Amino acid sequence: MVKEKSLILIKHDGVARGLIGKIVSRIEDIGLKIIAMKMVWADEKLAGDHYKLDETWAKNVYEKTKKARLEQGDEFPFKDHMEYGKMIQSWNINFLREGPVVAMVIEGPHAIEILRKIVGTTEPRQSPPGTIRGDFAMIESYALANDKQRVTRNLIHASDSKENAEHEIALWFAENELHSYSKELDKHY
Ligand code: UDP
Ligand code: MG
Repeated sequence: MVKEKSLILIKHDGVARGLIGKIVSRIEDIGLKIIAMKMVWADEKLAGDHYKLDETWAKNVYEKTKKARLEQGDEFPFKDHMEYGKMIQSWNINFLREGPVVAMVIEGPHAIEILRKIVGTTEPRQSPPGTIRGDFAMIESYALANDKQRVTRNLIHASDSKENAEHEIALWFAENELHSYSKELDKHY
């Protein structure tokens, strides 16, 4: 089925900078449907379950960050992907709990792929203009974040696969918080 659901979080940097409305507008502008929305200050358990230390994720984050930093002419002193993943995971958990976030479930055809596209790349510095991270956070980089021993503050989380979306939605929302209603574009799918 082409109709998908994705979990979106406007992370606390987005909330603190007053970007909730602008980010929500971008999602509405492309015609996707918000079927759940709430403000949540995550506890340790929710943050830990959301950012589980998974070997595939750690490998991916390690390779992606290493490639970017070496291409940028910087050093990347880490040798072990699990060690790096663990460090990023603990920064992520702290960041997720820095303050309240806005959690949403978005539904629509190709929702996961489209949302990843409008969000941009993990490192805002590399994220093209026109994307949420590129337009609102481009001065943020791995270099700044790693030097300060903190997470890359990139405003928004978007699920990256159907499997992860299902898992993440179940963490943040109860079944009865997901709403079913019609929007103008629905008649075409
Ligand atoms: N992150 C970081 N440093 C890294 C890699 C990731 O601070 O070297 C943070 C960043 O905030 C990112 C989050 O960890 O949004 C989750 O990483 P992922 O690879 O899932 O990125 P995303 O899917 O958010 O683009
Ligand atoms: Mg991710």
